Amino acid sequence: MKTIFAMMAVALVGVANMTLAAEKNPVAMVIHGGAGTIQRELMTPEVEAEYREILARAIRAGHSILLGGGSSRDAVIASINIMEDSPLFNAGHGAVLNHDGNVELDASIMEGRTLNAGAVAALTRIKNPINLANAVLEHSPHVMLAGAGAEVFAEQQGFAFVTNDYFKTERRQRQLERVLAEEGGVALSEDPSDRVVEKYQADEKKFGTVGAVAIDQRGDIAAGTSTGGMTNKRFGRIGDAPIIGAGTYADNNSCGISATGHGEYFIRAAVASDICARLAYKRLSLQQAADEVVMDKLVEMGGSGGVVGVDKEANVAFSFNSSGMYRASIDKHGTLVVQIFKND
Ligand code: ASP
Repeated sequence: MKTIFAMMAVALVGVANMTLAAEKNPVAMVIHGGAGTIQRELMTPEVEAEYREILARAIRAGHSILLGGGSSRDAVIASINIMEDSPLFNAGHGAVLNHDGNVELDASIMEGRTLNAGAVAALTRIKNPINLANAVLEHSPHVMLAGAGAEVFAEQQGFAFVTNDYFKTERRQRQLERVLAEEGGVALSEDPSDRVVEKYQADEKKFGTVGAVAIDQRGDIAAGTSTGGMTNKRFGRIGDAPIIGAGTYADNNSCGISATGHGEYFIRAAVASDICARLAYKRLSLQQAADEVVMDKLVEMGGSGGVVGVDKEANVAFSFNSSGMYRASIDKHGTLVVQIFKND
């Protein structure tokens, strides 16, 4: 008798576990490290491997949080932090320089379940802007804080400060010098010893913003974006990355999007929210909605760049109208993809 009860108990626990397992939503994640003119013929195998390695590391860091039952917001932050700390991308350390030779950073994060969002703009001393955007989401009655006010808030929240020099790299310095010389009609003499520029010349004309979108086991979508903006931007210029609906958007009823590209166009086209709206109202797939906005609407306007997204069914998509976009995904079946060029 006892054995029968024990067997029944085991069977019941088994059924309960299966139900629990069935209730968990599949997780998925997608990230980008900027879109733009990325020339395969100029990229050395060494540099390509560097990018692929860090993209894989960044997405795995976020995805393992999702697998462990963590939130999509935490996953997005973990992936973005790795790219912010890498000098390869235009976010955090290694961000581009503005016209005055300084770094000003923008970031935002949004949660699809509540439509809560946090954004920061024109930061000069916060090491990981996405973390401050998240603090705005969690601890501020506001959605966006900029400049000195954002840094006062950071101090109240116990954030550590770095100097602006922490963000600056020799490569970005040379990039700004080139753009300024071009602007002034001056040709910079090619310096053969300029190894930094030479090494990374394959992607000198890209937008290196970073971003991530994820869906967790509860079916919650989150999206985040972090950037130094555009080389030679004027002091105080704010791009699309911290604008909710332009560079970042997440809604559990449709999708989450993070964008990279010429920010002025992405703001005017309300890129991220327009993609989610097309998915919801026109009943398009995520890929179709993203392509309509990136390949049709933006191209007609003259705006270059791309997006990554995840929908409520955990489908992932990339769309970009430039020759390349640093990107990676781990889909709902656990398949990892890391790509750089258009026909990778
Ligand atoms: N979208 C960013 C901006 O305009 C630039 C980028 O994607 O790298 O600020």
